[in-house]
Amino acid sequence: MSIAVVEIDRKAILHNVEYLKEIVPDSELIAIVKANAYSHGIKGIAELIHDRVDGFGVARLTEAMSLRRIGINKPIVILEGFFLRDNIWFLIDFNLQTIVHSPWQIDLLRDFAGESLITVWFKLDTGMHRLGFNMDEALSEFNRLANCPVVRKPINIISHFSSADELTSQQTLQQIKLFDDFIASIQNKSLIGKCSIAASGGVLAWPMSHRDAVRPGIALYGVSPFQTPVAELQPAMTFKSELITVRPHKQGETVGYGQIWTSSQDTKLGVVALGYGDGYPRSIPENTPVLINGRRVPIVGRVSMDMIVIDLGNESQDKPGDEVIFWGKGLPVEEIATLTGISAYELLTRLTTRAKIHYIN
Ligand SMILES: *Cc1c(COP(=O)(O)O)cnc(C)c1O
Repeated sequence: MSIAVVEIDRKAILHNVEYLKEIVPDSELIAIVKANAYSHGIKGIAELIHDRVDGFGVARLTEAMSLRRIGINKPIVILEGFFLRDNIWFLIDFNLQTIVHSPWQIDLLRDFAGESLITVWFKLDTGMHRLGFNMDEALSEFNRLANCPVVRKPINIISHFSSADELTSQQTLQQIKLFDDFIASIQNKSLIGKCSIAASGGVLAWPMSHRDAVRPGIALYGVSPFQTPVAELQPAMTFKSELITVRPHKQGETVGYGQIWTSSQDTKLGVVALGYGDGYPRSIPENTPVLINGRRVPIVGRVSMDMIVIDLGNESQDKPGDEVIFWGKGLPVEEIATLTGISAYELLTRLTTRAKIHYIN
């Protein structure tokens, strides 16, 4: 068939959900399915795990609306919040929960005239310094939010770690302390809803951060938020294609654009139907491996839009149609991340729609 395929093992996803529930038995599990479920297919993943999770998290309003349109009726949290006044109508019509991270959003909610109530998550900046209220304005802004008629009480409280993947860093403990200090400073305790601070890193490495709800993304897909794979997780994705052809190649001959590689010996080259147009990075170091018939061989020459050339070696018995794996079982995406300096998060989410998603199991 010779096309780039993103093969997703459903059983692995279900295993990961069960594992996460096992290590976080007392918190709600909000499954993060932004960016097309990290390229695993938002529809396929949401439908697969719908009955096993407590809710879903996405970055954008459009992602949340697409979940509702395919019939997902669990709570959905928009992690970036709403951008415009008219977005508030969609929050109501689609029954979506929003993060509130800025004073101007509270102004819009305060001035909004409507009967319905919106469930909100008050975002506290405990050290990420991206979105969220500063510690010194947080309490007064929280009270202002609580006074908006359209806002459902109690108000959920959320924050995000900047360095949960750094296991010896003091930053995470400091962020937890600020989170707790803020919650303690709220006088009217009945205004305090669910509290959530842990994404995958917090879930796996910082048990004291679990609280009422956890928000794992990458761990659901079996990929580690750290440098190295997590043994208990099962990677769900195999990114692969097939050999289009195998050609003899002489010592001293180059291959591909810019002639950046010259063979030091007679060999056989395989041409694979997958390229940067499918989302494989163009900028990779020499000798980045792929997996073919159970062995690792290097990519040679420049990655092109639709094809990649691999050095099969002179003794190769590989033939057109043989499967070539770029990451997945036997070649962890974490390893490609380390080799290329492109994080596993980016490797997953940069896949393009030309690479077709196939579900197995
Ligand atoms: C993306 C995101 C998550 C999930 O992060 P992972 O590291 O993939 O688990 C959780 N919370 C927020 C606010 C996010 O933006």
